[in-house]
Amino acid sequence: MTKEREVNIGTKAVWAGEKEVLVHGATQVPVVVSVAYNYDDMDEWYDVAVGKKQGHIYGRNTNPTVQAFEDKVKILEGAEAATSFSTGMAAISNTLYTFLRPGDRIVSIKDTYGGTNKIFTEFLPNMNIEVALCATGDHDAIELEVQKGCKILYLETPTNPTVKITDIRRMAAVGKEVGALVVVDNTFATPINQNPLELGADLVLHSATKFLGGHADALGGVVCGAKELVEKIYHYREINGATLDPWAAYLLLRGMKTLKLRVEQQTKNAQGLAEYLVKQELVDQVFYPGLEDHIHHDIAKEQMKGYGGMLSFSLEGGMEAVKVLLPKLKYANRAANLGAVETTYGPARTTSHVECSAEERAAMGIPDGLVRISAGIEDLEDLIDDLENAFASLKESQAAPSL
Ligand SMILES: *Cc1c(COP(=O)(O)O)cnc(C)c1O
Repeated sequence: MTKEREVNIGTKAVWAGEKEVLVHGATQVPVVVSVAYNYDDMDEWYDVAVGKKQGHIYGRNTNPTVQAFEDKVKILEGAEAATSFSTGMAAISNTLYTFLRPGDRIVSIKDTYGGTNKIFTEFLPNMNIEVALCATGDHDAIELEVQKGCKILYLETPTNPTVKITDIRRMAAVGKEVGALVVVDNTFATPINQNPLELGADLVLHSATKFLGGHADALGGVVCGAKELVEKIYHYREINGATLDPWAAYLLLRGMKTLKLRVEQQTKNAQGLAEYLVKQELVDQVFYPGLEDHIHHDIAKEQMKGYGGMLSFSLEGGMEAVKVLLPKLKYANRAANLGAVETTYGPARTTSHVECSAEERAAMGIPDGLVRISAGIEDLEDLIDDLENAFASLKESQAAPSL
């Protein structure tokens, strides 16, 4: 008798979700570019159109390549269903707009992704939706706000750019008490390092543009959860139209095959870079949940399988020092992106928090000249040498008499 055991997540990343859409004996998922699908049998067409039978009708609704992408993420997150979007922001906005109505209340944290924060501070108030944003990591404050009642509790952990952690299990339990939908942005952790649904969340979403795709060459978003919830979000998206393009879906799907390898290496590199930066005299602060003195190290240790590929640091000399250090790096993109195979550096003031003023950033605990690092998959030794040289140049420039 053969033994049936559920395979591990690395195996799932390679194989899951693809079989159903393979054709002609191909080993790889086809990019189906057709906008519409042909039916000779009018009754069959009708049955598919009304959802009585599986199939595809029109590209804004469903597409086989897109379906394979959704199925793979769904399986990695251990969800019942998934639906995808043109971008991560579309996943977030469509999920919120599916469930929120005028007069509703939503509770979240101050450090969500910049675009998400704009929805909370600009668009939702316009629709007469009350938004309560709590200090990130202040679990008692979040609990109090949730207990006042809310339709959605929206979390992101780890956060951008100081990688603060929220205890998902504890917050999901309070959310459940008041009947709130608990939504978690899992972009930074990826399903390799964290599974919010297992910790009690109702919906988990991703900017697939980042770690899932991993190669900074395709935009996309995805949300996973119970079928009943995901169907509602799918309906909102199919009508409002933020559909994932099949070419992008293919690139994301291809990237995801190496998700486990990449994220493990990125996590190892982030830990190594954090430990190196802590020892540098020109470095003021280092933020990484894998450091034992990180404010939320214990929670991260409890709910994450790995501490992830994201970290940040600030320099003694503030932004002026950053302007000297970053251009010296050879093995780094200086870009707004994250989660790619290349190590990427970016100041918070130009990347995650470009929408905020210096005062607002200071109020959020983001030091002037904070630099976010998205660790790539390079060899750690080379990344450290690169920083070593850049720090040497910075020291020289600071020692040089100013004219
Ligand atoms: C980038 C990002 C988003 C938005 O994703 P897009 O694909 O750029 O729309 C949302 N959440 C987090 C945490 C992100 O890093």
